[in-house]
Amino acid sequence: MPYAPHAPASTLIALYAFEGPEVPLTYAVPEAWAGGVAPGMLVKVPLGPRKTLGVVLEIVAAAPPNVRQIKYILEIVHKVPVLTPDLLRLLPWLSSYYAARLGAVLETMVPSAVRDPVRDKQTLWVALGTWPNEAEWAALSKRAPKQAALLEFLKTQKDPVIKGPLLESLDVGPSTYKALVEKGFVIETALKAERTVYDDALSDIENEAAQGSVTLSAEQSVAAESIKDSLAKKVFKVHLLHGVTGSGKTEVYIEAAKAALAEGGSALFLVPEVALTPQTVARLRARLSASGVQAVVLHSHLSAGERLDAWMSLARGEARVAVGARSAVFAPLKNLKLIVVDEEHEGAYKQEDSPRYHGRDVAVYRAKLAGAVCVLGSATPSLESLYNLQVKGYQLNALTKRIDDRALPPMHIVDMRNETSMEKGTPLISRFLLDKLKGRLAAKEQTILFLNRRGFAPKVMCGTCGHVVACNHCSISLTFHRALNHLRCHLCNHERPLPRVCPECKGTALQQRGAGTQRIEDILPKLLPGARITRIDADLLDRKNAFRQVLGDFRKGKIDILIGTQMIAKGFDFPNVTLVGLIEADLSLHMPDFRAAERTFQLLVQVAGRAGRGDRAGEVVVQTYTPASAPLQFARRCDFEGFLAAELEERRVFNYPPFRHLIRHVFRARNAEKASFFIEEWTRFLEKQLPEGIELRGPAIAPREKVKDYYRYHLWYFTSNVSRTLPHLLALRNAFKMDKDVIDTLDVDPVDLG
Ligand code: ADP
Ligand code: ZN
Repeated sequence: MPYAPHAPASTLIALYAFEGPEVPLTYAVPEAWAGGVAPGMLVKVPLGPRKTLGVVLEIVAAAPPNVRQIKYILEIVHKVPVLTPDLLRLLPWLSSYYAARLGAVLETMVPSAVRDPVRDKQTLWVALGTWPNEAEWAALSKRAPKQAALLEFLKTQKDPVIKGPLLESLDVGPSTYKALVEKGFVIETALKAERTVYDDALSDIENEAAQGSVTLSAEQSVAAESIKDSLAKKVFKVHLLHGVTGSGKTEVYIEAAKAALAEGGSALFLVPEVALTPQTVARLRARLSASGVQAVVLHSHLSAGERLDAWMSLARGEARVAVGARSAVFAPLKNLKLIVVDEEHEGAYKQEDSPRYHGRDVAVYRAKLAGAVCVLGSATPSLESLYNLQVKGYQLNALTKRIDDRALPPMHIVDMRNETSMEKGTPLISRFLLDKLKGRLAAKEQTILFLNRRGFAPKVMCGTCGHVVACNHCSISLTFHRALNHLRCHLCNHERPLPRVCPECKGTALQQRGAGTQRIEDILPKLLPGARITRIDADLLDRKNAFRQVLGDFRKGKIDILIGTQMIAKGFDFPNVTLVGLIEADLSLHMPDFRAAERTFQLLVQVAGRAGRGDRAGEVVVQTYTPASAPLQFARRCDFEGFLAAELEERRVFNYPPFRHLIRHVFRARNAEKASFFIEEWTRFLEKQLPEGIELRGPAIAPREKVKDYYRYHLWYFTSNVSRTLPHLLALRNAFKMDKDVIDTLDVDPVDLG
């Protein structure tokens, strides 16, 4: 059925194809399916000699006059639309704002599990439901011993169990099993991962949730009412919930979500990284489920089948709440009324490959298209969002106090220059911090130590000739990882054994310089005999339950000191942590990035926010070589306003974001001269006809000069209106003849400037 007859009767549709031209294409729908197509549906279509996927934009009355042959669509992939009307409108905006191919945006918006729904045979999992009351239990044990045995078995299981083998091994027949499901004693689920990943964190918090609703503090109520007012108006509005750490932002989100759901709408929660914020996710789920709402958690451990189920349950409108990281901003929630972006200042919301979108900014735009309310929450809002309070009319809602009036922890700044001794150099742990650590051990209280550097030593250097062992493919030194006894590149993961002699001078005086978290883990037991110390690192996250296990142990008090990079600073809520130490505050401060001060300030406040969240007061120790630097001093005084004013002034002088948008243009090639030559050429070409409203800076060598064998250069463009200036820039770029060996990429509103 290759071509549709040009009969006026056939239904015609316009669609965007995943491959091919970036304009709407016209197709015909076979008569039998005519009633079944709607905007947002995924269809398979012929395109030239190939087949491709497309998303239906609209039913059209006629084809554009230049279209001669109209082909039939081949298949409707799902019976319901996979993109909601607001997502359909988001699509072209995202593609043009972030200068990304439409096909790349489509692939990002519609997960592969949905595009290619090869269902793995559905596995069902069984878990314990509500435990029978006394009378029911007595009856069961007497009259239905097999049912009782099954329940007793499930009670001993931490995770759900696969249904088939379970029933077989306990010799339970289908009717016996069915009776248990009907009574709610056991629950059956297709989503296994979702339950297992969060069960531990959940069990603690579920108790809390089961106690019914919390009473909001006065500040929480004011914030929640303000958001609910906006919801009632049913028009787009952005709220910035600026709440100090431990002020109970999550409860405000939940109040807002309940209001949105009560109106028949749906709600979307974005968190920086699901795996790193198990507590926030668990609390959201538990609190929502206490009010009878099941949230769908979209996280990276879902199998293809689970992801498909999760996605389609939203598309069908069966589930009305979704929780997930950046890409969940595209979840097909129907009648979306609320989007919450937690920790909105987090760089993790920015995607670093094409489409290089910023999850928070997309959330705001999607809310605008959907006529929804967007709540951006943080203890340390980004300068962009704070600026938007003034220029875009965001509503500020402030939570200035911690729950139960708990004190924010005092911050001690330790000047590491005073710790240096002639014979030993500078210790990693100051005497002051060591005393505090000892005090905590004696008091049986817990500590978190942060050092934002993985591995044992960031540098291996020859004591004789000064040679630093660097990656063969990148322009950075290799980090020594002691557990594996090898060197590893933190940019490209290249590994190699630790050399015995210096590759340059063949001397034997190779020294491991500097410290990563592994070294802290190594020296602490010598300083604090008997302390129970655990280190959390990125590798742990790959193993599904390891991270959860560590957090569970920490919560139960089986660990005294937890060491990690700042990846563990996000939203952790451990009441018995009364000391937080930041080993080297200077790491983020001296980055070649105009956001270095902002990041350092945010890091200090967030890290400090992990201390003193329970009944006992906490304190924070920050080790630094630059104690007078502004972010440290402002953070120490908890002076957010002061920091903001100073930092904004700085940005204003240079006309940096948030005052204008930055677009970064990176050129890379295996041959350094080629990359540098072409970026120079392009700059000359551009300068001759520079579009109005663009200011150009550069070109320069990128801070990460070489990555994975590519030499990198960059140019910066400043503009106050991306949508207006970017098309001109792209048109010029298309007119420029670039060497085929040089790859250039545009990053709009970049977060990573390395
Ligand atoms: P934030 O995200 O602002 O740091 P959380 O939402 O994690 O704060 O809340 C901090 C702690 O206070 C949590 O343990 C939470 O359960 C508790 N909490 C929040 N609101 C209330 C309330 N109104 N009453 C009692 N406890 C609350
Ligand atoms: Zn490398």
